[in-house]
Amino acid sequence: MALNGTRIPPLSARVGQACYSCFAEPSVETNLSRCSKCRSVSYCSPECQQRDWISHKAFCKTLYAIEHDSASKTVLVTSLSVTPSLDCFQKAIHFIGLAERSLNRPLNAIERNLIAYEPKCLSCLSSSRSNRILRMENSDPQASLQSCPQCHLAFYCSDEHWGPVAFNHMSTPCEDGYRGLSQCELNQNLKVDARFARIMGSASGPVRIFQWAPERLRTRWIPLPEEGDWDKEYGDELRSMAGGGGPPLGPFLRGSSEGLSFPLTILYALQNLNNDDVWTQRKSLTIHILGASLDKEFSYSSVFEEILHRLPKVQSLTLLLCGPDLKGMTGSTGKAIDMDTCPQLRTYHEYARGLGDKFVKPDFAIAFNSGLSQEAVASWAETIRFLVAERIPTAFTSYNRDEAEAETNILRNSGANLVLGPKRNPWEVKC
Ligand SMILES: [Zn+2]
Ligand SMILES: [Zn+2]
Ligand SMILES: [Zn+2]
Ligand SMILES: [Zn+2]
Repeated sequence: MALNGTRIPPLSARVGQACYSCFAEPSVETNLSRCSKCRSVSYCSPECQQRDWISHKAFCKTLYAIEHDSASKTVLVTSLSVTPSLDCFQKAIHFIGLAERSLNRPLNAIERNLIAYEPKCLSCLSSSRSNRILRMENSDPQASLQSCPQCHLAFYCSDEHWGPVAFNHMSTPCEDGYRGLSQCELNQNLKVDARFARIMGSASGPVRIFQWAPERLRTRWIPLPEEGDWDKEYGDELRSMAGGGGPPLGPFLRGSSEGLSFPLTILYALQNLNNDDVWTQRKSLTIHILGASLDKEFSYSSVFEEILHRLPKVQSLTLLLCGPDLKGMTGSTGKAIDMDTCPQLRTYHEYARGLGDKFVKPDFAIAFNSGLSQEAVASWAETIRFLVAERIPTAFTSYNRDEAEAETNILRNSGANLVLGPKRNPWEVKC
């Protein structure tokens, strides 16, 4: 992820476990030292700190000022809510508001992350900042919070608080995670991936999106297995591409799954929506992607070719990406890209209705993680009414079970005939 050409620091850097400038983790040669003023970020060397100072300076002073102001200090250590997680959330919102008022501008994503992801005790959710204020410590803030010995991305304030949560953190499958991995294992993957991204892209420049689609062509359609085993599906090809050695496969697979999940989810849905293989014998296939965004479906658009690689009978694949986010899309030249989408119309139903008689129903439509139960609810409701009225086979994916259930209710209430779900997508992004 990049912000005006600056990479957004990975979680490890946001919680002070990696250099905030080059994202290097501590090692035998590298020790991290905290910014002595805000104590929210760490650096591996004076050079890294100097390089980051221009962008960090104003925010650093603001953090320091808020933490030392008696009125805001009181709010940061007083409970605002009886629910600890809500309390954290409210405090973060409050803190962001204070910082924005003091800086007289909205915070950017990098700055908001630093406040929102501040290390907190897994058990009582007290933060290093509130501990620091309470104890009036000017020493190492890590003295108030210890980190998990395995991932160093989870924290606890005392041994009494670590004991009851350690097993859950290290061994219980994470509800929204991938294939039974625990929070700690997911965190460890995240660190490997951050290391991988550091190698693949330059830390100071915009990160290169790792895109990979296999070159092999299948001679016939082979149904996708029910268990989304990315290693089984792509591991060998990736390994041979890397010459057997090279960087560890984990981050390659996870990086690949980020793009390949789009075509595989489409194929998996089509395979489940059809009772036979007739759809795989078609000469052409038209798929509409609803609510598409610039940094997701559009930037990964070349990966959709995997659909053709798996469906040898299909000679032409038409993808239509439609979504308000694609409006004003610009290429690296700064000029708008001429695309066959709906630049002046905002949503799918507007686009389709705008075409009138010229609208050709797709074979299939899909909306990836639309959040239709949370955002632009009225607009999505209109799109769903249109899809139901036109009887367009459509799939919706969501980030987690709660969203999936909320979306299922909306779809059911709109008169949609639910065939597939809600069910877990075995070809979800592996991370
Ligand atoms: Zn550094
Ligand atoms: Zn600082
Ligand atoms: Zn605690
Ligand atoms: Zn851990």
